[in-house]
Amino acid sequence: MFIPSIGEKMEVAQIIVDVPLMQTDKPFSYIIPEELAALIEVGMRVHVPFGSGNRLVQGIIVGKEEENLNLYEISNLKAINEVLDSTSVLTEEQLWLADEMRHRVFSYKISCLKAMLPSLLNSNYDKVYRDEAGKSWYHSQLTDEEKIDFSKRVRSDQLTVTYLAKSKENRKIEKYIVIPDHKKLALFEVEKRAKKRAEFKSFLLRHFGEKIPIKNLAFSSAQVKFFLAQDLIKIEEVVVSRTQAVFEAVESDEPKALNREQSSAFEKIVREQNPEDLKPFLLEGITGSGKTEVYLQVISHFLEQGKTALMLVPEISLTPQITHRFIARFGDKVAIMHSGLSDGEKYDEWLKIKSGQAKVVVGARSAIFSPVENLGVIIIDEEHESSYKQDSSPRYHARDIAILRAKWHGARLVLGSATPSLESRARAMKGNYELLRLTKRANEKAFLPDVQIVDMRSQINDRSANFSNVLLEKVKEKISKNEQVILMLNRRGYSSFVMCRDCGFVVECPNCDISLTLHMDTRTLNCHYCGHVQGIPQTCPNCQSKKIRYYGSGTQKVQEELEGLLTDVNILRMDVDTTKTKNAHEKILNKFGRGEAQILLGTQMIAKGLDFPNVTLVGVINADTGLNLPDFRASERSFQLLMQVAGRAGRADKKGEVLIQTFNPEHYAIKLAKEQDYEKFYETEMRFRRSLSYPPYYYTVQVMLSHKVEEVAIQKAYEVADLLRHYLSPQAKILGPTARPIARTHNLYHYQILIKYRFENLLEEALNGVLELTQRRENKDLRILIDSEPQNF
Ligand code: ADP
Ligand code: ZN
Ligand code: ZN
Repeated sequence: MFIPSIGEKMEVAQIIVDVPLMQTDKPFSYIIPEELAALIEVGMRVHVPFGSGNRLVQGIIVGKEEENLNLYEISNLKAINEVLDSTSVLTEEQLWLADEMRHRVFSYKISCLKAMLPSLLNSNYDKVYRDEAGKSWYHSQLTDEEKIDFSKRVRSDQLTVTYLAKSKENRKIEKYIVIPDHKKLALFEVEKRAKKRAEFKSFLLRHFGEKIPIKNLAFSSAQVKFFLAQDLIKIEEVVVSRTQAVFEAVESDEPKALNREQSSAFEKIVREQNPEDLKPFLLEGITGSGKTEVYLQVISHFLEQGKTALMLVPEISLTPQITHRFIARFGDKVAIMHSGLSDGEKYDEWLKIKSGQAKVVVGARSAIFSPVENLGVIIIDEEHESSYKQDSSPRYHARDIAILRAKWHGARLVLGSATPSLESRARAMKGNYELLRLTKRANEKAFLPDVQIVDMRSQINDRSANFSNVLLEKVKEKISKNEQVILMLNRRGYSSFVMCRDCGFVVECPNCDISLTLHMDTRTLNCHYCGHVQGIPQTCPNCQSKKIRYYGSGTQKVQEELEGLLTDVNILRMDVDTTKTKNAHEKILNKFGRGEAQILLGTQMIAKGLDFPNVTLVGVINADTGLNLPDFRASERSFQLLMQVAGRAGRADKKGEVLIQTFNPEHYAIKLAKEQDYEKFYETEMRFRRSLSYPPYYYTVQVMLSHKVEEVAIQKAYEVADLLRHYLSPQAKILGPTARPIARTHNLYHYQILIKYRFENLLEEALNGVLELTQRRENKDLRILIDSEPQNF
C-alpha cells in the first residue's frame, strides 16, 4: 500500500474511468505514486481501483497537477495502480475533441474517448516489449517491479512496445538470421567431414548484410542451432505489420492536367486564407466529373507543404477502386482504415498513423478520429451517405467531427458529392459553406447516360416477376455487342419474410415485434435485432396450411430467374451473402473488370464508385422499395441512389443507358433522377421539408426510452416529454411520445419523443436532465438514449 508523506505537494491525476453504466463525465482524482510520477502523461491509460471493492478498472488520464492536500483529502484518495502505456495514446487534440463532441452527441465522455482509440486498446490486448536483440516479454507475465522497470526502459528507448490481442488472433512474428561479424564467420573453420555445415557457412557468407528468413530455409534447424551456439549468427524476430497485402500490387499513377472547372475548384481550395475565414467547401460534381482527381491533387499540394491529409469514404471495402487510386498516387504514405480489418490490423494502421509514417489516411467513418497530426486537408467523399452517422453510442456524424478537427488544425475541409445532402446544400446556399461545381464529365468523350423509366404497372409479365420485356431486350442487346450490364436490386426497406398464403400469418420473432428474415444459405429464420434463430416452418403455425411460402425476391432468386430467361450468360452476384469473406468485393469486381461475366447483379453496394468502361447499361429492377419507408429522407435517399447507380453507365467512350423499373413513375424523386436534375430535386424537396418543419429547416433530436414493462415505459416517456416542454421554448416542437417503429425488441418496450427546434439555449441542460433520470434508484431498469439528428424517423 502506498502511503504518501503529509504536508508535501502531491501529484494528482484526473481520470475518466471506464465503468459501464456509471454515467458521469466527472473525472476522479487519483494520487500518482512517486515511482510512477516520471512515467505518467495526460492521454495515457491506467488501471485504477474503483468503488467499494477496489476493483481494478481502466481509465484515461485527462489532467494532472501538483496539489497541496490535507490529511483528510489524502486519506480519501486512491492511488493509480498501473500505467498501461509508455506514451500518450490520446493527443491533446483528441482530449479536446472528446469534450466538444460530447456536447453535440449527448454521450458520455468515456465513450467519446474510446471512440478515438483502436479497439485493441479498449479491450483484450497484451503489451509486448522487445529489446534490440529481438527478445520479447509479455506485459501480462511481468511482476509489478518489472512493469515499472520496463516502462522506464521504454521511455529511454531501450525497448519498443507493440500490442497483440490476447485472443486467438495470430501473432505475426517472422524470424530472420543475421550475421553480426563477417570476419569471424569467414575465419571459422568447419570440420572437413561436415559437408552440409560448410555449405551453410558459404551460404551465410554470400548473404552477409541481409536478413535471411528462416522460413523456407534449405538447411536444417540443427545447422542453425550449431551456428547460433558458436555466436556466429543471431536470430531476429520481426513483428510483421498485419496490413492487407492486397494493396501492394498497384501501379503508380500520374496526376492528370485539370480541366477548367477542376482547376478553379483546386485553386479555391488551396488558396491562402486566414484560418478564421476558412469555410468548408462543398464540391458538387456530377458522377465522373473528376472530383477524385481534384482530391488527389489537393492532397499532393498539402503533402508538398509538409502537411497531412485525411480522406473519408462511405465504406472502403465497397470502394476498392478509390483506395487503389490513392495507393497508386501516394504509395506507402497511405494508411487504410476500414471495418474489414481485424483488430490487429487496425492497430497496426493506427500505429503507422501515430508514428507519423502515414501522411494520408483513407478510411470509413471512424477514421475521422485517427491521430494524424498537422492536417492540411480533410475530405469527405459522398458526403450525403448515411453511413457517416454512427448508429450506436456515441452517435456522432463524421461531418461534425471533421468540422471540429479542421478548426483545430486550420485545415481545409472538402465535402464532395454528386447529390449533396440537403443539409449541406442548404448551408452552402446560406454561405456557411463555399460551393464549388463540376458540371461536365472529365473524360470529354463520356456523356451522361440516357435514362428511361419503365412503368411496371403496364408491364405485367407472365414470364417474369422482376423483369419487364424492355429491360430484358436491352440486356440481350448489350450482351450481343459484348458490352457489360449492371443490374441493381434495391433492398432497402425490403426483407425476405415468410408468410402464409391462406391466412396471412407472418413468422415473427418471439422477443421482438418484427418479422424474421429468411436466410437461404443456412435455411433459417433470423431476427436481425436480438439474434433469435429458428427453422423454417413446413406448415403455417396459425392455420396449418401448407401454403406457407417464401416472399420477397432476394438477389439469389433474381439471379436464378435471369439465368432461366437468358441462355449462355455469366452473372456475378454481389450482396451480403456473396461478400462475407475478406476481400470478396474486390474479387468479384476484379472478375467483372476482366470481363469474366456479362452481368453484375447486386444490391445498393454496386452503386458506389465503380468505374468500368465497358458497362453501357444499368438496370434498376425496383426503384420504389425505398420510397415507401416511413422516413422523411426516403425521397432524398432514393434520388441519390438512382443518380449514383446511373452514374455507373457510360463512363468511357461508349454511350450509356439506364433503365429504371418502377411502380411510381410519377414520383418526383424518380422523375428528377431520370432528368438527372439535382437542382430541381433540391428545390422540390426543400419545399416539402419546409412545409413539414423537417431538417434542414429544423434541427432534430430523438429521445428513446426502453423498459421491460410497457406501462412504465409509457409513463416515463410522458414524464420526459413534460420535462422537455418545461425547459424548452414554445417554438420547439415536441412530438410524442409514440411507440417506436419496432415497438419491442429483446423483450423491451420502446417509446420515442422527437424534438424539432431552431435555437434552444436550454436544450443541452434539458437533455442532461432527461439523462439524469436514469441515475435515480426507481429508474434503474429504464434505458434512455438520445440521438441528435437521427437518420430516420
Ligand atoms: P468522380 O470522382 O467525380 O466520379 P473521377 O475523378 O473518378 O470522377 O474521374 C472520372 C474519370 O475521369 C476517371 O477515369 C479519371 O481518371 C478521369 N479524369 C479525371 N480528371 C481528368 C482530367 N483532368 N483529364 C483526364 N481525365 C480525367
Ligand atoms: Zn396460415
Ligand atoms: Zn428478436
